[in-house]
Parts: sequence; structure tokens; C-alpha cells
Amino acid sequence: MCCNENFEERNKGEKINTVLDLSEISGMKFFDPHVHMTSRTTDDYQAMADAGIVALIEPAFWLGQPRTGVDSFTDYYSSLIGWERFRSSQFGIKHYCTIGLNSREANNERLAEQVMEILPQFIFKEGVVGVGEIGFDDQTAAEEKYYRLQLELAKEAGLPVQIHTPHRDKKKGTQRSMDIAIEQGLDPYMVIVDHNNEETVKEVLDRGFWAAFTIYPFTKMGNERMVEVVKQYGSERIMINSAADWGISDPLAIPKTAALMKRSGISMADIELVTYRNAITAFAQSGQINEQDFVAVKNIDQSQKFASNSILRGGQQPRIDKNSIIIS
Ligand SMILES: [Zn+2]
Repeated sequence: MCCNENFEERNKGEKINTVLDLSEISGMKFFDPHVHMTSRTTDDYQAMADAGIVALIEPAFWLGQPRTGVDSFTDYYSSLIGWERFRSSQFGIKHYCTIGLNSREANNERLAEQVMEILPQFIFKEGVVGVGEIGFDDQTAAEEKYYRLQLELAKEAGLPVQIHTPHRDKKKGTQRSMDIAIEQGLDPYMVIVDHNNEETVKEVLDRGFWAAFTIYPFTKMGNERMVEVVKQYGSERIMINSAADWGISDPLAIPKTAALMKRSGISMADIELVTYRNAITAFAQSGQINEQDFVAVKNIDQSQKFASNSILRGGQQPRIDKNSIIIS
């Protein structure tokens, strides 16, 4: 399957409009099961809400640089269930998270030991829908050790697991992640294997796991390739996410891909499964997701406060017309 050829070239001769037209997906609802909102702006939240994203999951991950002590993990996990959830609610988006020790920082064993000790204080909190994102980065012995310990924790807690598969040596890393999950006694239906591509998807589905795909510009999966994956494998146990973070990424990856799927003739039922329903089915096994909550969070008031702090700075008024060129 080719990845460089683009939609316009393939349809040479015809005039193809590749601009996202929100009216095309209006009325559709989306769930982004992997997006790092802590790294994103309020404009992103607004654009996501406008494009139909009603709920999301923010997995715990690394900050782009190593943390130097366990307290920064404590504060980060606290923000995922606290301030960031509140910030999301101010844009009418229901915020969930997964909590875990990321694979990179599992290599700092002294710190990893301390993080393992605090995890149980967070994974049972309201709105925590899984242990994640965990798994392999460099596929080291330390990564395996803390991956296994966290699988055990998820199993005991009855929580789904969100697996980050490595960018390097992906196929082997994905197989190994699944082998270990089975060895640790996890039910594949409780495990969401993330960052799949054309090389890994078949085995992940054949073995009964959920297959998540990250639509991330230039690296993981472009959305034209994703359309082909759904054409080939259907929609069962497949979900897409943006994994938008502090890198060059796109928090509108899901609505854009839904629009592309629609133009490519994929059925609305299949689009709904891969952009909304499957993620809910998988993560609702935590007992923490209720679709009624998506509706409730819609009724927002941006002057609300969290621990006496609101998203409005210095006496700002809630923003009404964001398309006006006047910023008053
Ligand atoms: Zn991530």
C-alpha cells in the first residue's frame, strides 16, 4: 500500500476539494480515545467541539523531556483528573483519562518504582477508564518489567489497558506486547492496541484485541491509508484517534477522517463505529463511561470555577463569536 500518493493525484482530472467542510459532517458525533489535551490550546478545544467531538480520553504519557521526581507524576496525574477535565468541560467536551507509567520513563527504574507505588491512588478515581498508555518504546528489560506490573494492576482493577506500540521495530514490538498481555492473563477484549498500521492490524484483530490507529501527520498513519484499512478489514474492533500532543499533530484528525471516509463511500454505520462507538464499547468496560454525561457537559458556562480558578483570565468574558476579526 502506498503512502505518498495523495488524494488529489489519484483523482487527477477531477476537481477534488480537500478542504474540511464542517457541514459535511454536521450532526455526527466523535469520540477521540487518545489525545493529549494538556499540550493543546483553548482554540483546539473550541475547534474540536465545533467539529463534533463530544468526548475524549487523555492517556498519561511523557512530557517530551524526562521528569526528575515522583512529585511531577503526582501533579500530572492529578491534573488529568482535575484541571484538564475541568478545562475540557468548559468547551462542552467530556474528558476521561487513562493513567500509567509511560514506556520511556520505565527505564528510570528508581523513579519507576516510586511511580508504581502511587498508581493505585489514581486508577480508581472517577473518569479513569484504563491503565495507559503503557508498553514498549526501546523494548528494554525495564520496559517489560513495568509493562507486566501494570498489566497485573489493570487486571486486578478490572480496567481496560491502552497499549502504546513502539515506532521502531513496530511489528515485533506489537506481537511482543500482545504475547505478554496474554501471558499475564488479560482478556484481549480488555486491551486496546494503539498506533497500528497495515503491518500489524491483521494479527491484532485475529487475536481478539482492539486495534486503534493514530492519524498523525507524516509519521504513523495518514488518513487516506486509514480509508483503505477500513475498506479491507471493516469496522469491527477498529477505532481511530488523533494522539494530538506537543508535536506536529492534528486534533481534528477524527472529523477529517470521517469526512474522507464519507467521500470515499464507506457506510455511515462503519464510520460511526470507528470514529465513535467502538472506543466507547472498549473503554466503557471500565464502568466509567456513560453517554448521558456527554450531553450533560454540553450545557457549559465558561465562568464556572475549578478550585476557585476559571479559564477566563483577568476579568475576560466568555467568548461568543470566535469568527469575528475583532478581538475585544
Ligand atoms: Zn499518546
